[in-house]
Amino acid sequence: MNYLFEIHEKRTEPKRPEPEKEETIAPKDESSWTAPIVLGSADDLFDCGGCGGRCHDVIDEYDGQWKVECCFCGLVETHKRIEGVLPETFVFPGGRFAGQRIEEVASTEKGLQFVRWSASEHKNVDVRESCKKFLDTLTATP
Ligand SMILES: [Zn+2]
Repeated sequence: MNYLFEIHEKRTEPKRPEPEKEETIAPKDESSWTAPIVLGSADDLFDCGGCGGRCHDVIDEYDGQWKVECCFCGLVETHKRIEGVLPETFVFPGGRFAGQRIEEVASTEKGLQFVRWSASEHKNVDVRESCKKFLDTLTATP
């Protein structure tokens, strides 16, 4: 007897349970790039000249001026510095340790010498005061 359609019976072999694959995620190589140093954020203070956005990162500070970068379009503009906006975290504004926090600098022997020198001799009063403060915390917590 002929069937109009052949009926294929699929043999279902019992599947062996596959060994669970361990996910191997290659570590990202982040040494090839460095994030820009952001001193702090300045929101609702400036209108971006490019997109009108009011969300900026302060990426540099010099002589009472800020260099701010728009978070949206990336336009970098210069504005007058506004007191009390940036967090307490201090970074060296220039020189050999530019952009580094005191804690980072002081973690090396030469750096610590520099911090001690800066606390009394640095021409920038902000640097002097910040280094003094830092050295005070060192002596407070042995
Ligand atoms: Zn913008």
